[in-house]
Formats: sequence, C-alpha cells, structure tokens
Amino acid sequence: MNAQAHKYVIVGGGLAGASAAQAIRELDKAGPILLLCAEEHLPYDRPPLTKKLWFAKKTVEQIFLLDRAFCDKNGVSLELGAKATEIDRAEKTVRDSKGRSWRYERLLLATGGTPRKPDVEGNALAQVCCMRTLDDYLGLRRQAGAGKSALVIGGGFIGSEIAAALNVNSVDVTMLFPSEHLCSRVFPAALGKAVGRVYEEHGVKILSGDAPASVSRAQGRFLTRTRGGCAIESDMVVAGVGIEPDVSLAKRAGLDVGDGVAVDRYLRTSDAGIYAAGDNCSFPCPALGRRLRFEHWDNALSQGRCAGRNMAGARESYDHLPYFFSDLFDFGYEAVGEVDSRLETSADWQKENHTGVITYLRDGRVRGAMMCNVWDKVEWARGLIREGERAGSKAATGAL
Ligand code: FAD
Repeated sequence: MNAQAHKYVIVGGGLAGASAAQAIRELDKAGPILLLCAEEHLPYDRPPLTKKLWFAKKTVEQIFLLDRAFCDKNGVSLELGAKATEIDRAEKTVRDSKGRSWRYERLLLATGGTPRKPDVEGNALAQVCCMRTLDDYLGLRRQAGAGKSALVIGGGFIGSEIAAALNVNSVDVTMLFPSEHLCSRVFPAALGKAVGRVYEEHGVKILSGDAPASVSRAQGRFLTRTRGGCAIESDMVVAGVGIEPDVSLAKRAGLDVGDGVAVDRYLRTSDAGIYAAGDNCSFPCPALGRRLRFEHWDNALSQGRCAGRNMAGARESYDHLPYFFSDLFDFGYEAVGEVDSRLETSADWQKENHTGVITYLRDGRVRGAMMCNVWDKVEWARGLIREGERAGSKAATGAL
C-alpha cells in the first residue's frame, strides 16, 4: 500500500502532541504535520476534568488545545479516532487502526498513559470510572448530583481532586486508600493528615489504611468490600490509582524502553528520527542527576514543545526542572523538583499546614520544594534546587 507522506507524524493528541505541533510551526512554517489521535475528541487539557469543569470555572468548549481552524491554517492534518498500531522503522512508516499507512521523516511518540485498574475481584470492575479522559468526565458528570454517593478509590493526586469535585457537587463521597494519609507520596504526614481533616470538615468520609477487595454490582448500585472488612454501597465508584505509560508501540518497534520510552537530552529515542515526550517518556534530568518519568501537565507541555522544535531542526537540550500543581478545596500548591515524602523535609509555615513552603532535602541539599497557598515562587524554587544550596529551615525562610 502507498503510504501518504508527512514530514512530521505525531502519535498522540494530548498536551505533549498538541504543543509539539505548535512548536514545529515556530521553526518550520510549511512541512506537513500529521497528528494521529486515538480519541474522538480534538486535543484537550486534562487538569480541568477534575477541577474547573466541576466548579463552573470552565466549559467543555474551553478545554480544547487546538481547533480545526488552527489546523487548517497551519497545515496540520488531524486524524481523530485513529490509533497508531505499528511503526516500520526501516520504511519510516506508521500504520493506524483504520488500516492506513503514513510515511514520516520525523516521528513523535506522545502516547501518554493508561489508567491502572484497581486490583479487585467482583463483577463490576469494567464499570469503575478510572478518571483520565473527557469521556470519563462526561460519564461521571451525568451521574453526579445531590442524593448520589460515590466511593473514590485512591488517595493520591487524582483521587483527592475528584473526591473534592464530587463533594462540592453535593455527592456523598467516601475515600478509600491504603496509606495513612492523603497524597502520601508527596505530602509529609502532618500535612497529609491536616488536609484529610479539611476533607472531613467538608463531609468526605475517609477510610485510610484499607484497600478494596471486591467491587460488584446489584440493583443498579455498587457494593465494595474492603480487605479490612468494610462494605460500602455507592452509586458510583471512581478510581485514581495511577497510570501505566503507553510504551507498547515503542517496544514493538524495538526502541529502548525502561520505565518509559527512553530519550536523550534532546528527547530523541534510540532511533534518531523518533522522539518521545510527555507521560510516556523517561528522560535524563541533569539538575537532579538521574533519569525521570513525570506524569504532569508542565512536563508534557514543555517536553512537547522541546521535541517539536528539535524535530524541526533546533538542538535544544531539555533541562527543565519538573513542576506540578494541584487544588484540593482551599489548599492549592505548586511543586518543583523531587517532591518525595520519603526525603527529609523542612517546613516554613505562615499558617501551619496551610500556607508556607516545604523543602525536600537529600544529603542536606534542596532537591524539591512545595509552595502551599504561596504563589509566584516557582522560579525561586528552581534556582534553589539548581544551586544545590545547603538547606534546612534557612532555605525556606525568605521565600515568603
Ligand atoms: P496524554 O494526555 O495521556 O495524551 C496522550 C494521548 O495519546 C491520548 O489522547 C491517547 O488516547 C493518545 N494515544 C495513546 N496511544 C496512541 C496511539 N497508539 N495512537 C494514537 N493516539 C494514541 N498535572 C498537573 O501537573 N496538575 C494537575 O492538576 C493535573 N490534573 C490532572 C487531572 C486529570 C484528570 C488527569 C488525567 C491528569 C492531570 N494532570 C495534571 C496530568 C497531566 O494532565 C498529564 O501529565 C498530561 O495530560 C500528559 O500529557 P501527554 O500528552 O503526555 O499524555
């Protein structure tokens, strides 16, 4: 079969893919771009799915990252509902789920990740909403409302956000998670417990230190049994238990894959004509001195951008320090670097466990910082980590 030729083929219409298409156009005004998107929607932003869309701060129409007009004007062919199924590196072609073949000069893998399912028995796992896509949001939104109940499995980033969103929308929410406190991978225990108390004040029931054993369905409702012996009935079950990076295409093509698709500092995979960016990609982080895979918005945006520019001829090294943000009721934070609760931490609070800065230290050096209800300090934190300053409470002081 004759393959249609595009100078640039981007697999994955998420944030990394969309920002790569825009970045290519900064340097190459004409080279044809093809964006293959497995989903049926135009590329869209995911953070509003658990935040602004629930608080009437955005409409669905406002979350799209690219529109048809941009694509038409900029020579971007958008193929929705088309999943890339095979890469032929020798022929430089990609096959898609509609049986078509596309030739590329430069290829970007921006395939993101697939949510994990909770490890449970029962007949209802397929009906558990694993919050990741616009369709997941639309499905949940249709069910949510006063008089309804939801069990949220997972006390991390996504679980905590969707629990707050459902609660604000009058849903009776129970959270179930195995750790002692919320967001245990990033929050020190005192902060995680304090944020948990805020949830309880809003009426969210918290079942910590326990995990689901089975999820079944009878008479239109879910019944979840926990390993600790609790039984929870609910109208909805939502899970936020992490993602697996989508690396199968790269693996089958024989590219180096570890925790994600392995790239060098220019975001090139082990094949110099193929790049990777976003949640699926494992990259060297010079400032932290190790390889990372990072599942956050700013990473997908900045890596997509860097990969796009490099595909179009630039030679820019990706040395951006990881950054992420979240909002949980009135507790909002921004975090930079290695924000891992297993590290030593030092906090400088204006208001305890609410407003202040936490620094995360390894070998006495600041490796990460979380600004809690403190804004515009991200560049300060990046500088602190880069300088590798000797830290402790002194490092945090002066931020406020
Ligand atoms: P994705 O967004 O997953 O996009 C990948 C796309 O590629 C998908 O549409 C997928 O269907 C498609 N695809 C996969 N395989 C193929 C294939 N073979 N062919 C064609 N297409 C394919 N981060 C923050 O920092 N702060 C937040 O507050 C925050 N909130 C979030 C809330 C939610 C509900 C979710 C799900 C994520 C949130 N994130 C947040 C994380 C952030 O949105 C992700 O890190 C980011 O979306 C990753 O972008 P990506 O382009 O790498 O991958």
